[in-house]
Amino acid sequence: MNFKSFGFEENLQDGLDAMGFEQPTPIQEKAIPVILEGKDLIACAQTGTGKTAAFILPILNKISKSGSNSLNTLILAPTRELALQIDQQIQGFAYFLGISSIPIYGGGDGVVWEQQKRALETGAEIVVATPGRLIALLAGGKMDLSTLEHLVLDEADRMMDMGFSDDILKIVNYLPTRRQTVLFSATMPPKIRQFSMKILNKPEEISI
Ligand code: AMP
Repeated sequence: MNFKSFGFEENLQDGLDAMGFEQPTPIQEKAIPVILEGKDLIACAQTGTGKTAAFILPILNKISKSGSNSLNTLILAPTRELALQIDQQIQGFAYFLGISSIPIYGGGDGVVWEQQKRALETGAEIVVATPGRLIALLAGGKMDLSTLEHLVLDEADRMMDMGFSDDILKIVNYLPTRRQTVLFSATMPPKIRQFSMKILNKPEEISI
């Protein structure tokens, strides 16, 4: 199978070509069509399987098609390192698309905090955030999430192990109820399944 069979927008395909991506990995083959269809998804996949591109690519394609230029997608990740990695992949793929993304993470100093707040004011279609820092911004009334269409939880099992479940539920309360939610997790213990029932709507399930 080749990426061309997904029928991505030309500018996204150009980004894929520039990044040297030719063949989708198994998780990408399974997840991309489900996300393109607009369905909620629970995907069990480990790091190194290409899971990041599996959710970024179809979401970028949808944003590009809709022409949306307000905040459209929130991606939650457990750590600053992962948030930055996801943000970098988005910027690589979106090079020809005119879609921007902002990483929001805790730690750092007051300068980083100010930079993140200012970046949000300039607007971006995608925010990649760690839950604790995002809660602080939401509580300060710094973000309008009313135009949001996609929520992604990456490494959900790790976020739960780190004690972020309550923060995530609080964040979800700020989001429109009509949205597409996608959850990726390396493991699928019963607590993840129970948690996902609270925030996903009739999800498809895939694993590799
Ligand atoms: P991930 O599992 O998302 O952390 O991805 C692992 C690595 O594989 C990253 O460096 C990606 O850039 C790379 N990668 C993901 N999908 C593909 C693909 N279809 N073709 C080539 N490299 C890929």
